[in-house]
Amino acid sequence: VQPLVSSLSALLGAEKVLSGDAIGDDYTHDEALCGERHVPLAVVLPSGVDDVRRVLVWASDNRVPVTARGAGTGLSGACVPRANGVVVSFERMKRVLEIDTENHVAIVEPGVSLEALNAAVAEKGLVYPVFPGENSATLGGNVATNAGGMRAVKYGVTRHHVLGLEAVLATGEVIRTGGKFVKTSTGYDLTQLVIGSEGTLALVTQVTLKLVPLLRHSATLLAPFPTLDEAVCTIPLLVVSGVGPLLVEYIDRMTMMAITAQSGVSLGIGADMQASTEAYLLVVVEGRTADRVDEDTQLAGATLAEHGASDVFVLPASAATQLIDAREKSFWAAKRAQASEVVDVVVPRASLPEFMHQVKAIAERHSTFIPGCGHAGDGNVHLAVFERDPDKRYALMRELFEAGRRLGGVISGEHGIGVEKKRYFLELEDPAKIALLRRIKQAFDPNSILNPGTIFD
Ligand SMILES: Cc1cc2nc3c(=O)[nH]c(=O)nc-3n(C[C@H](O)[C@H](O)[C@H](O)COP(=O)(O)OP(=O)(O)OC[C@H]3O[C@@H](n4cnc5c(N)ncnc54)[C@H](O)[C@@H]3O)c2cc1C
Repeated sequence: VQPLVSSLSALLGAEKVLSGDAIGDDYTHDEALCGERHVPLAVVLPSGVDDVRRVLVWASDNRVPVTARGAGTGLSGACVPRANGVVVSFERMKRVLEIDTENHVAIVEPGVSLEALNAAVAEKGLVYPVFPGENSATLGGNVATNAGGMRAVKYGVTRHHVLGLEAVLATGEVIRTGGKFVKTSTGYDLTQLVIGSEGTLALVTQVTLKLVPLLRHSATLLAPFPTLDEAVCTIPLLVVSGVGPLLVEYIDRMTMMAITAQSGVSLGIGADMQASTEAYLLVVVEGRTADRVDEDTQLAGATLAEHGASDVFVLPASAATQLIDAREKSFWAAKRAQASEVVDVVVPRASLPEFMHQVKAIAERHSTFIPGCGHAGDGNVHLAVFERDPDKRYALMRELFEAGRRLGGVISGEHGIGVEKKRYFLELEDPAKIALLRRIKQAFDPNSILNPGTIFD
């Protein structure tokens, strides 16, 4: 061990390598609820692409596993290192390199957080519109997980906003893909292949992002529904109504109680109505002018009311911000309530009612309850599973994943496979596709040094 770490320090300079007690606990885990922790041999803190290149050549020569790390906010164990491996943490590569206002493009290093990026581009009247719920997450992590979030119903997910990458292959070769343009028909799309690959194909050292104009007018509607079924049946109607909502989230009653209690938010809805509500829809519309937003608010409100909402509240701006923030923190409420897993199945949005029926039946069969909320406009749910026994939890989660797949969905809409969902993925996915993915992995990373054990064994 010691000679390996010494050779790494000699290669990069001791100030870029942490080992032994200098490796803080944060580097050993992410936010996955059941995840294992591993202390790596060393943590490397590159300051540029050349450092990354040198680490990968060294790791290939010495057959040392390498796990990239952004902010460690992932929910699938994908940045948890191997005990015999090194972490490449991008915390020092956090420069916004360029904001090109004519092309609506930003070029960033992978360690830039969503918060820092949006603060920088807001000054130019622009926004990077992908909003996964955790603002400390990095663009490198977002690319590697293809992060989604609440605004995907309008703007899509990370892969719809990444125009190009600079990435280092396991061999140490540096590739540049795409650029400041929005289309390409020039061979296989390597940008899209690397997006969502969870650090298993290449290490991303620069990201070219598509920005959009910041729309300054918005309205937030909260609609309580007597049944979950009515709430989720209304979602496709809302999305196709022409309103083009920025956000359509469902929150079931138990989750709403947990997130409002955790954040100290008052819904401003009478106790009787809250007691007769099984689920809420939270809808945001945005636009360039206040008139346009008013028009869309009317239409969205009418759609919600016509399809079973007990009432429709247009929230004051500060209450809206607080409630959306509380919803973004639902993961912490689930963690506090000692959930053992959060499942993020995605199905076609029109199949959500049937999926939720099946979730209820699965919960009853397993004598448990499965509360949740989610990006319902995308058909993407976040269900909290409470089952400590690993075998029972496996059986329950497999049924949830199978139900999603039968309805034309997949087992993860945005959190990734990582190590936590690997077993289900390998058991349930088409073997021909798994075999092809393995061959792609082999082509990129012949010695299997990049995040081995993530997605596949
Ligand atoms: C409260 C909370 C709410 C969340 N809400 C959402 C949500 O709404 N939508 C959503 O999609 N996710 C959500 N997440 C999950 C998480 O924020 C995302 O997965 C995010 O993309 C992880 O970014 P990170 O920088 O923390 O990456 P990490 O967790 O550090 O790493 C994630 C993966 O990226 C790889 N990686 C990191 N940097 C690089 C790089 N430069 N090159 C190659 N691979 C790299 C790692 O190896 C790992 O495989 C939430 C998490 C929390 C805690």
